[in-house]
Amino acid sequence: QKKLRPADYNAVINEAYNRFKDEKEGKNADYIPFLAKVDPGMYGIVLVTKDGQVYQVGETKFEFGIESIEKVFTLCMAMELFGDQAILDKIGADQTGLPFNSVPAIEIDGKKPSNPLVNAGAMATTSLLTSHFGHEAAWEKVDDYFAGFAGRRLKIIDELYKSEAATNEHNQAIAMLLKSYGYMYDDPLFACDFYTRQCSYGVNAHDLALMAGTLANGGVNPVTKERLIQEKYVPKVLAIMGTTGLYETTGQWMYKVGLPSKSGVGGGIISVMPGRFAIAVFSPPLDKAGNSVRAQEAIKFISDKLNANVYIGQ
Ligand code: GLN
Repeated sequence: QKKLRPADYNAVINEAYNRFKDEKEGKNADYIPFLAKVDPGMYGIVLVTKDGQVYQVGETKFEFGIESIEKVFTLCMAMELFGDQAILDKIGADQTGLPFNSVPAIEIDGKKPSNPLVNAGAMATTSLLTSHFGHEAAWEKVDDYFAGFAGRRLKIIDELYKSEAATNEHNQAIAMLLKSYGYMYDDPLFACDFYTRQCSYGVNAHDLALMAGTLANGGVNPVTKERLIQEKYVPKVLAIMGTTGLYETTGQWMYKVGLPSKSGVGGGIISVMPGRFAIAVFSPPLDKAGNSVRAQEAIKFISDKLNANVYIGQ
């Protein structure tokens, strides 16, 4: 593999930006007004290399809802605290093949939450954290941990949290169901509310790139050099992203692109090429599964150009 220069990274992300700028496919999430009203034209790309060089183009400062992407970092924290075997035993690591908030998925997988990157598994993972730290202390611990990944303290978007919390009965029902099956490790409604707050973090594309870059760099934030997760756990987290990071279309994604990734209904997607770089793209319009259309296109283009695919290797 030839040595890439800064000019090469800049050229590739700019080309990806321009090529998909006029994409009109997809629709903002509209289950709450906050997500529906975000300007669908906004579009930003950030690439961060393992050694902390940052390349960006487009709208990379605008703060949007992290949504499901938070699930990755909640998983990191729980794995760091309890180990990889506990994640397998208490949550699971298998694809559901169903939407991220599927109730039948819980029944199908032996009444287990399936994996930490769907709503059921994410709330169960959150409940491990809240019961470990206690309800009073948990938020500060999680907030500090997320700040380590992003390289700055993130804030909750209050309006987003309030409207999510006012309409999250479906997630509450999932949390209660898990409790009834013995797969919820704290008060289910507390865990559901805590999860909802985590989904309401405001992030920009630059924050997400550093968060993903930490996973590309073996668990050390490539810019601040802080270690957030032991190196041995990073491949486990990436394996789960590669199994379920784009919901029920993850199989196609890995077939076409081959990068462990995670999407959120706020319009962000992160992708990790272990040992090389991470990409974060923001563009609100989503496909039917809930994945940003333009972010998928841009990431596919960039990974093709940079010959980045975990199944090719480095
Ligand atoms: N807050 C959303 C939910 O729990 C997050 C969904 C997502 O980004 N897929 O339903």
